[in-house]
Amino acid sequence: MNGYSQRKSAIARFGSLFSFISLFFCANLPVQAQQADFAACLDRLQPEAQKAGISGQAFRQFTSDIVPDMSILEKLDYQPEFKQPIWDYMAALVDEQRIQEGKQNLSLHKHTLSRIQEKYGVDPATVVAVWGVESNFGQTFGKYPLTQALGTLSCYGRRQAFFQKEFFATLRILQSGDIAPERLVGSWAGAFGHTQFMPTTFERLAVDFDGDGQRDLMDNTEDALASTANYLSKNGWRSGQPWGFEVKLPDNLSIAGEGRKKKRSIQTWISKGLTDINGKALDTRVPTSMQAGLLTPAGAKGPAFLVFKNFDVIYSYNAAESYALAIAHLSDRLKGKGPFKNAWPTDDLGLSRAQRITLQKILLQKGYDIGEADGLIGSKTREAIKTEQTRLGLTADGRAGQKILRALQSSN
Ligand code: CA
Repeated sequence: MNGYSQRKSAIARFGSLFSFISLFFCANLPVQAQQADFAACLDRLQPEAQKAGISGQAFRQFTSDIVPDMSILEKLDYQPEFKQPIWDYMAALVDEQRIQEGKQNLSLHKHTLSRIQEKYGVDPATVVAVWGVESNFGQTFGKYPLTQALGTLSCYGRRQAFFQKEFFATLRILQSGDIAPERLVGSWAGAFGHTQFMPTTFERLAVDFDGDGQRDLMDNTEDALASTANYLSKNGWRSGQPWGFEVKLPDNLSIAGEGRKKKRSIQTWISKGLTDINGKALDTRVPTSMQAGLLTPAGAKGPAFLVFKNFDVIYSYNAAESYALAIAHLSDRLKGKGPFKNAWPTDDLGLSRAQRITLQKILLQKGYDIGEADGLIGSKTREAIKTEQTRLGLTADGRAGQKILRALQSSN
């Protein structure tokens, strides 16, 4: 997912008629004309690729079989109609299953992780938490062949210049032999492997940690975990420092203008009346000179956190504060710490992945055509939930939360 949300937010800023028109025309060319058009585009790119260090032979070898996948352009232009509240996002990303699997992986890779900590200064729980959120510990890599996805995005749609750089990087990776062509699959936008690096990130930051001469983020856990640590280290990770912790706010504190980037010293936060979540003085946790921002993802009534430099480093992996909080919190849970003490300001909390699947199975039993019970809440599942909410006299917002799950379970 690295680089992914930067793209998404940039894309949201563009959203233009032009892209709709170009998508409409490109997506409606007959197949042969489409292929010819794509081949002409690759011909135009080849001299640029040469300048970018890809031999003519390698370019031909790795691009000759590509058929453009125009369905990717719909993903590029997709605007989510439904924004998950933070408690839904956290409930699915940091659920019991992920905590348990994370702990198993911590123990399974104990020796590698301790060597990684020695070399890069990043603790095992943080590395494993990133791994868990990025690829579900190597279980979800994405299914798009990278040359096809990035080739398509280099020739069609918005941001072709951006994707051409990633396309060329992909070709250089194949040329170098680090990863075999048939293994190089990932997200539609080009993030791949255990750590979901973009190809240019791979080139800059992937490492060969097991010493076999290849940097393999697809099939080599040691390389993948070390590359994650290297990423965090190169982005300024401060060894031994916490990402942050939950705090208790005084009643009268104004949170207007506060945030991750608005760093103040711990001394200042003490003078404003903040304590840690148990009411203990902040300087019993960290030095008073440390700089921290106040993060309140659901406003002053929800959980509040003081976040340090290391939170920003996690954020750099994928520019979304909710994402960084999920990784930060998962790393704490892997260390045996508990859930947030302060409750999210809602009477209808989010569902774990297992609960989402249970909900979908009930909907399937009731005859709704929502596809597979995969725990991913798409528009069909939301429509079915809406109908059931109406039937049961609940607010019909289509959201998959505890209330609708309980109502369906007890009415079943
Ligand atoms: Ca290796």
